[in-house]
Amino acid sequence: MTTPTPGTVRTRFAPSPTGLLHIGGVRTALFCWLYARRHGGAFVLRVEDTDRERSTDEAVRVILEGMAWLGLNPDEGPFYQTRRYDRYREVIGDWLASGKAYHCYCSKEELDTMRAEQQARGDKPRYDGRCRHGKPKVEGVSPVVRFKNPGEGEVVVNDAVHGRVVFQNKELDDLIIQRSDGNPTYNFCVVVDDYDMAITHVIRGDDHLNNTPRQLNMLRAMVGEGGAVPVYAHLPMILGPDGAKLSKRHGAVSVLEYEREGFLPEALLNYLARLGWSHGDQEFFTLEEMVELFDIEDVNTSASAINPDKLAWLNQQHMLVADETRLADMLRVQLTAMGITPALEGPNLVAIVACQKERSKTLREMAMASRFFFEAPQVYEEKAAKKHLAPEGQAALLAVAAALELLADWSPLAIHEALNGLAAAQGVGLGKLAQPVRVAVSGGGVSPPIDATLAILGRSETLARLTRAATNA
Ligand code: GLU
Repeated sequence: MTTPTPGTVRTRFAPSPTGLLHIGGVRTALFCWLYARRHGGAFVLRVEDTDRERSTDEAVRVILEGMAWLGLNPDEGPFYQTRRYDRYREVIGDWLASGKAYHCYCSKEELDTMRAEQQARGDKPRYDGRCRHGKPKVEGVSPVVRFKNPGEGEVVVNDAVHGRVVFQNKELDDLIIQRSDGNPTYNFCVVVDDYDMAITHVIRGDDHLNNTPRQLNMLRAMVGEGGAVPVYAHLPMILGPDGAKLSKRHGAVSVLEYEREGFLPEALLNYLARLGWSHGDQEFFTLEEMVELFDIEDVNTSASAINPDKLAWLNQQHMLVADETRLADMLRVQLTAMGITPALEGPNLVAIVACQKERSKTLREMAMASRFFFEAPQVYEEKAAKKHLAPEGQAALLAVAAALELLADWSPLAIHEALNGLAAAQGVGLGKLAQPVRVAVSGGGVSPPIDATLAILGRSETLARLTRAATNA
Protein backbone atom coordinates (compact mmCIF):
# COMPACT_ATOMS: atom_id res chain seq x y z
CA MET A 1 0.00 0.00 0.00
CA THR A 2 1.43 3.35 -0.95
CA THR A 3 1.33 6.33 1.37
CA PRO A 4 -1.73 8.43 0.53
CA THR A 5 -1.36 12.01 -0.63
CA PRO A 6 -2.09 14.32 2.32
CA GLY A 7 -5.70 15.39 2.48
CA THR A 8 -7.05 12.67 0.22
CA VAL A 9 -7.91 10.00 2.78
CA ARG A 10 -11.57 9.47 3.61
CA THR A 11 -12.49 6.82 6.16
CA ARG A 12 -15.83 5.95 7.64
CA PHE A 13 -17.14 4.28 10.75
CA ALA A 14 -20.42 2.57 9.95
CA PRO A 15 -22.00 1.03 13.04
CA SER A 16 -25.36 -0.71 12.97
CA PRO A 17 -27.44 0.49 15.92
CA THR A 18 -28.69 -3.01 16.64
CA GLY A 19 -26.65 -3.40 19.82
CA LEU A 20 -25.00 -0.88 22.13
CA LEU A 21 -21.64 0.39 20.87
CA HIS A 22 -18.99 -1.52 22.77
CA ILE A 23 -15.22 -1.53 22.80
CA GLY A 24 -14.97 -3.73 19.69
CA GLY A 25 -16.78 -1.06 17.65
CA VAL A 26 -14.87 1.72 19.34
CA ARG A 27 -11.55 0.15 18.32
CA THR A 28 -12.74 0.17 14.69
CA ALA A 29 -13.86 3.78 15.02
CA LEU A 30 -10.54 4.71 16.57
CA PHE A 31 -8.49 3.17 13.76
CA CYS A 32 -10.65 4.93 11.15
CA TRP A 33 -10.30 8.21 13.00
CA LEU A 34 -6.54 7.83 13.56
CA TYR A 35 -5.92 6.98 9.94
CA ALA A 36 -7.88 9.99 8.74
CA ARG A 37 -6.18 12.30 11.25
CA ARG A 38 -2.74 10.93 10.45
CA HIS A 39 -3.18 11.73 6.77
CA GLY A 40 -5.04 15.00 7.21
CA GLY A 41 -8.15 13.43 5.72
CA ALA A 42 -11.82 13.17 6.66
CA PHE A 43 -13.57 10.82 9.04
CA VAL A 44 -17.20 10.08 8.22
CA LEU A 45 -19.81 8.66 10.61
CA ARG A 46 -22.59 6.64 9.04
CA VAL A 47 -25.31 4.93 11.01
CA GLU A 48 -26.39 1.74 9.23
CA ASP A 49 -29.93 1.59 10.50
CA THR A 50 -31.72 -0.22 7.68
CA ASP A 51 -32.55 -3.17 9.93
CA ARG A 52 -35.52 -1.33 11.36
CA GLU A 53 -36.66 -4.11 13.62
CA ARG A 54 -33.40 -4.49 15.44
CA SER A 55 -32.18 -0.87 15.39
CA THR A 56 -32.99 1.18 18.46
CA ASP A 57 -32.87 4.88 19.35
CA GLU A 58 -30.96 3.96 22.49
CA ALA A 59 -28.21 2.33 20.41
CA VAL A 60 -27.99 5.45 18.20
CA ARG A 61 -27.72 7.60 21.32
CA VAL A 62 -24.87 5.46 22.69
CA ILE A 63 -23.02 5.77 19.36
CA LEU A 64 -23.32 9.56 19.33
CA GLU A 65 -22.64 10.10 23.03
CA GLY A 66 -19.91 7.50 23.14
CA MET A 67 -18.05 8.99 20.19
CA ALA A 68 -18.42 12.49 21.65
CA TRP A 69 -17.13 11.33 25.05
CA LEU A 70 -14.11 9.75 23.36
CA GLY A 71 -13.49 12.80 21.19
CA LEU A 72 -13.80 10.73 18.00
CA ASN A 73 -15.70 13.50 16.31
CA PRO A 74 -16.69 12.99 12.69
CA ASP A 75 -15.75 15.52 10.05
CA GLU A 76 -18.91 14.55 8.19
CA GLY A 77 -22.11 12.97 9.36
CA PRO A 78 -23.76 11.32 11.14
CA PHE A 79 -25.50 10.11 8.00
CA TYR A 80 -28.40 7.71 8.40
CA GLN A 81 -29.06 5.06 5.79
CA THR A 82 -32.81 5.18 6.42
CA ARG A 83 -32.75 8.77 5.11
CA ARG A 84 -31.09 7.72 1.88
CA TYR A 85 -33.72 5.40 0.43
CA ASP A 86 -34.43 7.66 -2.54
CA ARG A 87 -30.80 7.48 -3.53
CA TYR A 88 -30.70 3.68 -3.23
CA ARG A 89 -33.85 3.42 -5.40
CA GLU A 90 -32.27 5.73 -7.94
CA VAL A 91 -29.21 3.47 -8.28
CA ILE A 92 -31.40 0.39 -8.53
CA GLY A 93 -33.39 2.10 -11.29
CA ASP A 94 -30.18 2.92 -13.15
CA TRP A 95 -28.85 -0.60 -12.81
CA LEU A 96 -32.11 -2.12 -14.03
CA ALA A 97 -32.10 0.24 -16.99
CA SER A 98 -28.48 -0.45 -17.87
CA GLY A 99 -28.73 -4.21 -17.36
CA LYS A 100 -26.49 -4.40 -14.31
CA ALA A 101 -29.40 -5.75 -12.29
CA TYR A 102 -32.59 -7.64 -13.05
CA HIS A 103 -35.96 -8.56 -11.56
CA CYS A 104 -36.30 -12.00 -10.09
CA TYR A 105 -39.74 -13.54 -9.73
CA CYS A 106 -38.74 -16.80 -8.10
CA SER A 107 -41.01 -17.77 -5.23
CA LYS A 108 -39.76 -19.05 -1.93
CA GLU A 109 -40.95 -22.56 -2.84
CA GLU A 110 -39.02 -22.45 -6.10
CA LEU A 111 -35.86 -21.32 -4.35
CA ASP A 112 -36.30 -24.02 -1.68
CA THR A 113 -36.63 -26.68 -4.36
CA MET A 114 -33.59 -25.31 -6.17
CA ARG A 115 -31.57 -25.48 -2.97
CA ALA A 116 -32.73 -29.02 -2.15
CA GLU A 117 -31.79 -30.23 -5.64
CA GLN A 118 -28.37 -28.63 -5.43
CA GLN A 119 -27.72 -30.14 -2.04
CA ALA A 120 -28.86 -33.58 -3.28
CA ARG A 121 -26.30 -33.27 -6.07
CA GLY A 122 -23.63 -32.27 -3.56
CA ASP A 123 -23.41 -28.73 -4.97
CA LYS A 124 -23.10 -25.60 -2.87
CA PRO A 125 -26.56 -23.96 -2.70
CA ARG A 126 -26.68 -20.75 -4.73
CA TYR A 127 -29.15 -18.91 -6.90
CA ASP A 128 -28.73 -20.31 -10.40
CA GLY A 129 -29.64 -17.10 -12.20
CA ARG A 130 -32.73 -18.44 -13.97
CA CYS A 131 -34.48 -15.05 -14.05
CA ARG A 132 -31.31 -13.53 -15.45
CA HIS A 133 -31.31 -16.09 -18.23
CA GLY A 134 -34.79 -15.70 -19.62
CA LYS A 135 -37.29 -17.05 -17.13
CA PRO A 136 -40.44 -15.06 -17.92
CA LYS A 137 -41.97 -12.46 -15.67
CA VAL A 138 -44.67 -13.80 -13.30
CA GLU A 139 -47.79 -11.63 -13.21
CA GLY A 140 -49.03 -10.57 -9.78
CA VAL A 141 -45.69 -11.24 -8.10
CA SER A 142 -43.61 -8.36 -6.69
CA PRO A 143 -40.13 -9.24 -7.80
CA VAL A 144 -36.89 -8.77 -5.94
CA VAL A 145 -33.97 -7.10 -7.73
CA ARG A 146 -30.72 -8.99 -8.10
CA PHE A 147 -27.29 -7.71 -9.02
CA LYS A 148 -25.65 -9.40 -12.00
CA ASN A 149 -22.52 -10.70 -10.41
CA PRO A 150 -19.74 -11.59 -12.89
CA GLY A 151 -20.07 -15.31 -13.56
CA GLU A 152 -16.39 -16.00 -13.89
CA GLY A 153 -12.98 -14.84 -12.83
CA GLU A 154 -11.78 -13.91 -9.43
CA VAL A 155 -12.08 -10.99 -7.06
CA VAL A 156 -8.80 -10.03 -5.47
CA VAL A 157 -8.88 -8.10 -2.23
CA ASN A 158 -5.52 -6.53 -1.46
CA ASP A 159 -6.25 -6.16 2.18
CA ALA A 160 -3.97 -3.78 4.09
CA VAL A 161 -3.99 -6.11 7.08
CA HIS A 162 -4.49 -9.59 5.63
CA GLY A 163 -2.62 -9.15 2.37
CA ARG A 164 -3.95 -10.67 -0.86
CA VAL A 165 -7.21 -12.57 -0.44
CA VAL A 166 -8.75 -14.15 -3.53
CA PHE A 167 -12.41 -15.07 -4.02
CA GLN A 168 -13.91 -16.92 -7.01
CA ASN A 169 -16.86 -15.28 -8.70
CA LYS A 170 -18.51 -18.61 -9.30
CA GLU A 171 -18.83 -18.95 -5.53
CA LEU A 172 -20.90 -15.76 -5.40
CA ASP A 173 -24.44 -15.77 -6.71
CA ASP A 174 -26.55 -12.83 -7.87
CA LEU A 175 -27.16 -10.91 -4.68
CA ILE A 176 -30.62 -9.55 -3.89
CA ILE A 177 -30.22 -5.79 -3.68
CA GLN A 178 -33.88 -4.90 -3.27
CA ARG A 179 -36.46 -7.02 -1.47
CA SER A 180 -39.95 -7.52 -2.80
CA ASP A 181 -41.20 -4.89 -0.32
CA GLY A 182 -38.98 -2.36 -2.10
CA ASN A 183 -36.36 -2.08 0.64
CA PRO A 184 -32.70 -2.12 -0.37
CA THR A 185 -30.42 -4.68 1.26
CA TYR A 186 -27.43 -4.27 3.49
CA ASN A 187 -24.42 -4.97 1.22
CA PHE A 188 -25.89 -2.82 -1.52
CA CYS A 189 -26.46 0.20 0.75
CA VAL A 190 -22.88 -0.06 2.00
CA VAL A 191 -21.63 0.08 -1.59
CA VAL A 192 -23.74 3.07 -2.64
CA ASP A 193 -22.69 4.91 0.50
CA ASP A 194 -18.99 4.13 0.20
CA TYR A 195 -19.20 5.34 -3.39
CA ASP A 196 -21.24 8.50 -2.69
CA MET A 197 -19.15 9.39 0.34
CA ALA A 198 -15.97 8.89 -1.71
CA ILE A 199 -14.50 6.56 0.88
CA THR A 200 -10.86 5.76 0.12
CA HIS A 201 -10.14 3.37 3.02
CA VAL A 202 -12.66 0.90 4.39
CA ILE A 203 -11.40 -0.09 7.83
CA ARG A 204 -13.69 -2.54 9.65
CA GLY A 205 -13.85 -5.80 11.58
CA ASP A 206 -12.67 -8.89 9.76
CA ASP A 207 -16.12 -10.45 10.13
CA HIS A 208 -16.82 -8.35 7.01
CA LEU A 209 -14.01 -9.77 4.89
CA ASN A 210 -16.42 -12.23 3.29
CA ASN A 211 -18.74 -9.40 2.21
CA THR A 212 -15.92 -7.66 0.44
CA PRO A 213 -15.89 -9.53 -2.92
CA ARG A 214 -19.62 -8.89 -3.40
CA GLN A 215 -19.18 -5.26 -2.43
CA LEU A 216 -16.20 -4.86 -4.73
CA ASN A 217 -18.13 -6.27 -7.68
CA MET A 218 -20.97 -3.83 -7.07
CA LEU A 219 -18.57 -0.95 -6.53
CA ARG A 220 -16.96 -1.71 -9.86
CA ALA A 221 -20.41 -1.54 -11.40
CA MET A 222 -20.68 1.96 -9.94
CA VAL A 223 -17.26 3.33 -10.73
CA GLY A 224 -17.03 1.75 -14.17
CA GLU A 225 -14.07 0.15 -15.90
CA GLY A 226 -10.78 1.37 -14.40
CA GLY A 227 -12.48 3.45 -11.71
CA ALA A 228 -10.89 3.57 -8.26
CA VAL A 229 -12.17 1.40 -5.44
CA PRO A 230 -11.25 1.82 -1.77
CA VAL A 231 -8.41 0.14 0.04
CA TYR A 232 -9.75 -2.43 2.49
CA ALA A 233 -8.31 -3.13 5.92
CA HIS A 234 -10.01 -5.80 8.00
CA LEU A 235 -9.16 -5.67 11.67
CA PRO A 236 -8.66 -8.76 13.80
CA MET A 237 -11.29 -9.67 16.35
CA ILE A 238 -11.15 -8.66 19.97
CA LEU A 239 -11.64 -11.59 22.35
CA GLY A 240 -12.53 -11.82 26.02
CA PRO A 241 -9.72 -12.38 28.55
CA ASP A 242 -10.43 -16.12 28.35
CA GLY A 243 -9.94 -16.17 24.58
CA ALA A 244 -13.66 -16.66 23.86
CA LYS A 245 -15.73 -14.34 21.67
CA LEU A 246 -16.19 -10.97 23.38
CA SER A 247 -19.44 -10.92 25.28
CA LYS A 248 -21.22 -8.79 27.88
CA ARG A 249 -19.57 -10.83 30.60
CA HIS A 250 -16.19 -9.59 29.33
CA GLY A 251 -17.04 -5.96 29.20
CA ALA A 252 -18.74 -5.84 25.81
CA VAL A 253 -21.07 -3.39 27.46
CA SER A 254 -22.02 0.05 26.24
CA VAL A 255 -18.91 2.20 25.91
CA LEU A 256 -20.60 4.73 28.20
CA GLU A 257 -20.24 2.21 31.01
CA TYR A 258 -16.50 2.97 30.94
CA GLU A 259 -17.28 6.62 31.48
CA ARG A 260 -19.53 5.72 34.39
CA GLU A 261 -16.80 3.57 35.88
CA GLY A 262 -14.41 6.49 35.84
CA PHE A 263 -12.05 5.70 32.99
CA LEU A 264 -10.44 8.52 31.06
CA PRO A 265 -11.32 8.55 27.36
CA GLU A 266 -7.69 8.88 26.34
CA ALA A 267 -6.80 5.83 28.45
CA LEU A 268 -9.50 3.71 26.84
CA LEU A 269 -8.34 4.83 23.39
CA ASN A 270 -4.71 4.13 24.25
CA TYR A 271 -5.72 0.68 25.46
CA LEU A 272 -7.79 -0.08 22.37
CA ALA A 273 -5.08 1.17 20.02
CA ARG A 274 -2.77 -1.47 21.44
CA LEU A 275 -5.32 -4.20 20.73
CA GLY A 276 -4.07 -5.24 17.34
CA TRP A 277 -1.62 -2.39 16.74
CA SER A 278 1.86 -1.83 18.11
CA HIS A 279 4.73 0.57 17.87
CA GLY A 280 7.79 -1.21 19.21
CA ASP A 281 7.02 -2.17 22.78
CA GLN A 282 5.61 1.22 23.77
CA GLU A 283 2.45 0.92 25.90
CA PHE A 284 1.63 4.49 26.91
CA PHE A 285 0.56 6.82 24.11
CA THR A 286 -0.95 10.24 24.19
CA LEU A 287 -3.58 10.89 21.57
CA GLU A 288 -1.12 13.07 19.65
CA GLU A 289 1.43 10.26 19.61
CA MET A 290 -1.13 7.81 18.33
CA VAL A 291 -2.10 10.15 15.51
CA GLU A 292 1.53 10.62 14.62
CA LEU A 293 2.54 6.96 14.76
CA PHE A 294 -0.53 5.00 13.69
CA ASP A 295 -0.34 3.08 10.48
CA ILE A 296 -2.79 0.51 9.28
CA GLU A 297 0.07 -1.62 8.02
CA ASP A 298 1.32 -2.13 11.57
CA VAL A 299 -1.97 -3.80 12.53
CA ASN A 300 -1.48 -7.50 13.06
CA THR A 301 -3.74 -10.27 11.84
CA SER A 302 -4.26 -12.27 14.99
CA ALA A 303 -7.11 -11.67 17.39
CA SER A 304 -6.22 -10.08 20.70
CA ALA A 305 -7.72 -10.76 24.09
CA ILE A 306 -8.74 -7.89 26.32
CA ASN A 307 -6.94 -7.51 29.60
CA PRO A 308 -8.86 -5.50 32.22
CA ASP A 309 -5.79 -5.18 34.46
CA LYS A 310 -3.83 -3.54 31.69
CA LEU A 311 -6.67 -1.12 30.98
CA ALA A 312 -6.76 -0.21 34.68
CA TRP A 313 -3.00 0.28 34.74
CA LEU A 314 -3.09 2.50 31.65
CA ASN A 315 -5.94 4.48 33.14
CA GLN A 316 -3.83 5.25 36.16
CA GLN A 317 -0.88 6.23 33.97
CA HIS A 318 -3.11 8.69 32.15
CA MET A 319 -4.55 10.01 35.42
CA LEU A 320 -1.03 10.74 36.63
CA VAL A 321 -0.42 13.14 33.74
CA ALA A 322 -3.95 14.53 33.37
CA ASP A 323 -4.91 18.03 34.43
CA GLU A 324 -5.96 17.88 38.10
CA THR A 325 -8.81 20.35 37.72
CA ARG A 326 -10.28 18.16 35.01
CA LEU A 327 -9.91 15.09 37.20
CA ALA A 328 -11.54 16.98 40.06
CA ASP A 329 -14.59 17.63 37.86
CA MET A 330 -14.76 13.95 37.02
CA LEU A 331 -14.36 13.05 40.68
CA ARG A 332 -17.29 15.33 41.50
CA VAL A 333 -19.46 13.40 39.02
CA GLN A 334 -18.45 10.11 40.64
CA LEU A 335 -19.13 11.41 44.14
CA THR A 336 -22.52 12.73 43.08
CA ALA A 337 -23.37 9.31 41.65
CA MET A 338 -22.56 7.91 45.11
CA GLY A 339 -24.99 10.33 46.70
CA ILE A 340 -22.34 12.75 47.97
CA THR A 341 -22.67 16.42 47.08
CA PRO A 342 -19.31 18.10 47.64
CA ALA A 343 -19.93 21.56 49.08
CA LEU A 344 -17.92 24.53 47.84
CA GLU A 345 -16.55 25.24 51.31
CA GLY A 346 -15.93 21.52 51.91
CA PRO A 347 -12.85 19.41 51.15
CA ASN A 348 -10.92 20.61 48.14
CA LEU A 349 -11.39 18.19 45.23
CA VAL A 350 -8.17 19.15 43.44
CA ALA A 351 -6.23 18.45 46.63
CA ILE A 352 -7.98 15.08 46.97
CA VAL A 353 -7.09 14.22 43.37
CA ALA A 354 -3.46 15.19 43.99
CA CYS A 355 -3.07 12.82 46.93
CA GLN A 356 -5.29 9.99 45.65
CA LYS A 357 -4.27 9.64 42.01
CA GLU A 358 -1.28 7.46 42.73
CA ARG A 359 -3.42 5.07 44.67
CA SER A 360 -6.51 4.76 42.45
CA LYS A 361 -6.94 3.03 39.12
CA THR A 362 -10.17 4.74 38.16
CA LEU A 363 -12.06 7.82 39.27
CA ARG A 364 -14.76 5.64 40.73
CA GLU A 365 -12.15 3.89 42.84
CA MET A 366 -10.85 7.30 43.87
CA ALA A 367 -14.33 8.45 44.82
CA MET A 368 -14.94 5.34 46.89
CA ALA A 369 -11.65 5.76 48.70
CA SER A 370 -12.49 9.44 49.31
CA ARG A 371 -15.94 9.03 50.83
CA PHE A 372 -14.52 9.62 54.31
CA PHE A 373 -13.54 13.17 53.36
CA PHE A 374 -17.23 13.99 53.12
CA GLU A 375 -18.79 11.64 55.64
CA ALA A 376 -17.37 10.78 59.04
CA PRO A 377 -16.94 7.04 59.48
CA GLN A 378 -20.01 5.43 61.01
CA VAL A 379 -18.09 2.35 62.04
CA TYR A 380 -14.39 1.56 62.22
CA GLU A 381 -12.93 -1.42 60.43
CA GLU A 382 -12.87 -4.11 63.07
CA LYS A 383 -9.27 -5.24 62.76
CA ALA A 384 -7.88 -1.72 62.43
CA ALA A 385 -9.90 -0.51 65.41
CA LYS A 386 -8.79 -3.40 67.60
CA LYS A 387 -5.20 -2.65 66.85
CA HIS A 388 -5.17 1.13 66.83
CA LEU A 389 -8.11 2.34 68.90
CA ALA A 390 -7.30 0.37 72.03
CA PRO A 391 -6.56 2.50 75.14
CA GLU A 392 -2.98 3.12 74.01
CA GLY A 393 -4.14 4.39 70.61
CA GLN A 394 -6.90 6.47 72.18
CA ALA A 395 -4.34 8.16 74.43
CA ALA A 396 -2.27 8.91 71.33
CA LEU A 397 -5.33 10.47 69.68
CA LEU A 398 -5.92 12.82 72.59
CA ALA A 399 -2.29 13.88 72.53
CA VAL A 400 -2.44 14.48 68.78
CA ALA A 401 -5.67 16.45 69.10
CA ALA A 402 -4.09 18.63 71.79
CA ALA A 403 -1.02 19.30 69.64
CA LEU A 404 -2.99 20.04 66.49
CA GLU A 405 -5.42 22.33 68.24
CA LEU A 406 -2.55 24.73 68.84
CA LEU A 407 -1.51 24.97 65.20
CA ALA A 408 -1.73 28.46 63.79
CA ASP A 409 -1.35 27.24 60.24
CA TRP A 410 -3.47 24.26 59.10
CA SER A 411 -1.22 23.07 56.29
CA PRO A 412 0.26 19.66 55.45
CA LEU A 413 3.70 20.94 56.44
CA ALA A 414 2.58 22.33 59.79
CA ILE A 415 0.62 19.14 60.54
CA HIS A 416 3.60 17.03 59.54
CA GLU A 417 5.91 18.95 61.85
CA ALA A 418 3.46 18.84 64.75
CA LEU A 419 3.09 15.05 64.47
CA ASN A 420 6.84 14.55 64.14
CA GLY A 421 7.47 16.81 67.15
CA LEU A 422 4.96 14.91 69.24
CA ALA A 423 6.39 11.53 68.22
CA ALA A 424 9.90 12.71 69.14
CA ALA A 425 8.71 14.07 72.48
CA GLN A 426 7.01 10.77 73.27
CA GLY A 427 9.95 8.75 72.01
CA VAL A 428 7.75 6.73 69.61
CA GLY A 429 7.81 6.21 65.85
CA LEU A 430 5.48 8.37 63.75
CA GLY A 431 3.39 5.30 62.88
CA LYS A 432 2.32 4.94 66.52
CA LEU A 433 0.50 8.24 66.18
CA ALA A 434 -0.39 8.22 62.49
CA GLN A 435 -2.16 4.85 62.41
CA PRO A 436 -4.67 5.64 65.18
CA VAL A 437 -5.25 9.01 63.51
CA ARG A 438 -5.85 7.32 60.18
CA VAL A 439 -8.41 4.93 61.62
CA ALA A 440 -10.08 7.76 63.52
CA VAL A 441 -10.54 9.99 60.50
CA SER A 442 -11.04 7.47 57.70
CA GLY A 443 -12.49 4.48 59.51
CA GLY A 444 -9.75 2.14 58.26
CA GLY A 445 -6.05 1.62 58.04
CA VAL A 446 -5.56 2.95 54.50
CA SER A 447 -5.60 6.56 53.40
CA PRO A 448 -3.36 9.05 51.59
CA PRO A 449 -0.46 10.49 53.64
CA ILE A 450 -1.85 11.57 56.97
CA ASP A 451 -0.66 15.19 56.82
CA ALA A 452 -2.34 15.76 53.42
CA THR A 453 -5.43 13.91 54.59
CA LEU A 454 -5.88 16.04 57.71
CA ALA A 455 -5.12 19.23 55.79
CA ILE A 456 -7.94 18.46 53.35
CA LEU A 457 -10.33 17.39 56.07
CA GLY A 458 -9.95 20.70 57.89
CA ARG A 459 -9.22 21.54 61.50
CA SER A 460 -12.62 21.25 63.15
CA GLU A 461 -13.63 18.04 61.38
CA THR A 462 -10.25 16.46 62.19
CA LEU A 463 -10.44 17.39 65.86
CA ALA A 464 -14.04 16.19 66.12
CA ARG A 465 -13.16 12.81 64.62
CA LEU A 466 -10.06 12.39 66.78
CA THR A 467 -11.98 13.19 69.94
CA ARG A 468 -14.84 10.93 69.02
CA ALA A 469 -12.56 7.97 68.36
CA ALA A 470 -10.57 8.69 71.52
CA THR A 471 -13.63 8.74 73.73
CA ASN A 472 -15.81 6.11 72.02
CA ALA A 473 -18.38 8.89 71.66
N1 GLU B 1 -22.67 -1.87 9.85
C1 GLU B 1 -21.63 -2.86 9.95
C2 GLU B 1 -21.46 -3.29 11.39
O1 GLU B 1 -21.87 -2.61 12.30
C3 GLU B 1 -20.31 -2.36 9.44
C4 GLU B 1 -20.28 -2.29 7.97
C5 GLU B 1 -18.98 -1.82 7.37
O2 GLU B 1 -18.12 -1.28 8.10
O3 GLU B 1 -18.86 -1.97 6.18
O4 GLU B 1 -20.90 -4.34 11.63
